[in-house]
Amino acid sequence: MADPAECTIKVMCRFRPLNSSEVARGDKYIPKFTGEDQVSISGKPFMFDRVFGSNTTQEQMYKASAQKIVKDVLEGYNGTIFAFGQTSSGKTHTMEVRQTENNLSVHEDKNRVPYVKGCTERFVCSPEEVMDTIDEGKSNRHVAVTNMNEHSSRSHSIFQINVKQENTATEQKLSGKLYLVDLAGSEKVGKTGAEGAVLEEAKNINKSLSALGNVISALAEGSTYVPYRDSKMTRILQDSLGGNCRTTMVICASPSAYNEAETKSTLMFGQRAK
Ligand code: ADP
Ligand code: MG
Repeated sequence: MADPAECTIKVMCRFRPLNSSEVARGDKYIPKFTGEDQVSISGKPFMFDRVFGSNTTQEQMYKASAQKIVKDVLEGYNGTIFAFGQTSSGKTHTMEVRQTENNLSVHEDKNRVPYVKGCTERFVCSPEEVMDTIDEGKSNRHVAVTNMNEHSSRSHSIFQINVKQENTATEQKLSGKLYLVDLAGSEKVGKTGAEGAVLEEAKNINKSLSALGNVISALAEGSTYVPYRDSKMTRILQDSLGGNCRTTMVICASPSAYNEAETKSTLMFGQRAK
């Protein structure tokens, strides 16, 4: 049984392999793995709870970052798993979840519990139905093509799983919530060459990512004040991030020298959350 008083925030870092265009360009592979919990970029060390190199399998990643949280959710806790990183760093690959509708608004019910208006809820009984629901949500995701050469995700995707259990013999009820959060690309606006509405959107993304960073670092430090209300996302996630939280943030990064500056700022973000 999980310890109810324990609040765990883990920050892990995963480097994907060099992709075909990075290989074709002859990009240097820059991370140096100096231990299970440390990686260096051009001599600068970064510490995490765990660090994963480019040949890490999905199963190894799941076991290290998600399995414990899933187990705790089944025991009635709320948990959250985030993927953070620039576009093409492997966030979606790591989460394998793509979902959310257009700009949903956050409301509060009469007990001041935040809820998302207009989001779709499905009753599911099997893993297949979960995957079908994810696929259904996939088409709703908002993407824009920028000169990062890839579809830059300009929305956060939050996939929420509510687990309700009832023991019919004892009438004991248990409920837990799991949030899988595939964050919008964290890259600096300048690099994407965004303009107009896309630029405004990018600024909002940066704002909400920094609000998330502030919340995670306040929680990690055990601060009495946690600024949940600074963004929609942190309001939605408040009851899973606060209290007896089970949170893992997976920091995703490209290993290419071409992305060095972005990778360093990504790792700094993760470091702050620790
Ligand atoms: P993001 O969601 O951060 O924009 P993706 O998850 O879409 O990035 O990854 C970009 C590309 O790199 C995809 O084609 C994906 O399959 C591939 N990729 C990402 N991480 C890995 C990995 N660890 N191993 C192999 N391929 C990966
Ligand atoms: Mg993605």
